[in-house]
Amino acid sequence: MEVEEKLRELAKKLLDSKEVDVVIGYGKVHDDRRRGPVFITDPADVDKLVFDERCLNNLAGYLNKRYKLLKAEFDRPAVVLKGCDAKAAVGLIQESQFTPEDVILIGVCCSGVVPDYDSSYGERPFKCQVCDVHRPKNVAHVIGDLPEDEPLLEYTPSEEATELADRPREERYAFWRAELERCIRCYACRAVCPLCSCERCIADSNQPQWIPTSGHEIGSWSWNIIRAFHLAGRCIGCGECARACPVDIPLDLLNQHLRKIVSERFGYVAGLDPEAKPPLITFKEDDAEEFIR
Ligand code: SF4
Ligand code: SF4
Ligand code: SF4
Repeated sequence: MEVEEKLRELAKKLLDSKEVDVVIGYGKVHDDRRRGPVFITDPADVDKLVFDERCLNNLAGYLNKRYKLLKAEFDRPAVVLKGCDAKAAVGLIQESQFTPEDVILIGVCCSGVVPDYDSSYGERPFKCQVCDVHRPKNVAHVIGDLPEDEPLLEYTPSEEATELADRPREERYAFWRAELERCIRCYACRAVCPLCSCERCIADSNQPQWIPTSGHEIGSWSWNIIRAFHLAGRCIGCGECARACPVDIPLDLLNQHLRKIVSERFGYVAGLDPEAKPPLITFKEDDAEEFIR
């Protein structure tokens, strides 16, 4: 049976039995040119669920601060997640953003997505090239037949990210100053990131005003650096921020570098284990702390 058929069958079963009152999955939008979130509440509508390599969105974004809004409407939601999206759900469980007992996570095996919805399918994004969760982990149901992958216990960044990280500090600084100067402060990266889960973002605070609100260079620099630090040790590398950025700032290069540092310094890769303590919320008395000297 095709993955989509199995997904629809499971959704129908969950809705029919009232085990869930909504299934949030992917549907056809924009005349079938794109895939986007759909909320299925009627078992008769499960045929609207689709799953293919154009299902780019990370639907774990409904389980962060938006979870309260979701719960105001639905008692018991089910959410369709690819393996990388399920890593975000792990981070959100660790941070108590949603109650795992109240949400059914439906994992769908995934061979990779396409870089954009355009039909001229190009090379798969880097996250798919190094994917260790083609078969989703830490979910209630797994749909599809891909075998288990070996978990990546160390993080390996792309050649592009490694080449950038190897440049002298002045060159890296110049690279990021030039890139971040282009930021228009639309906050699409924040809106789409499942782990950008603060109720009140520091960028919106005005008493005191930590970050200037206009889209000039200093404010944009502050915003992006602060956001990167807030995601350190938490970013699961779904790549949504880079995909959403309307001016194509390569935010994924920054995230990859941070993931590598956290992996090397703390032996921690985000999104693998809901029971693990992320490095930024714990400490070791014998920590060498050489990285802050
Ligand atoms: S990273 Fe893995 S699970 Fe995520 S879209 Fe790519 S292949 Fe699918
Ligand atoms: S920072 Fe970007 S890559 Fe990391 S979890 Fe957020 S959206 Fe995904
Ligand atoms: S999505 Fe891009 S342009 Fe918008 S705030 Fe983020 S980095 Fe800046």
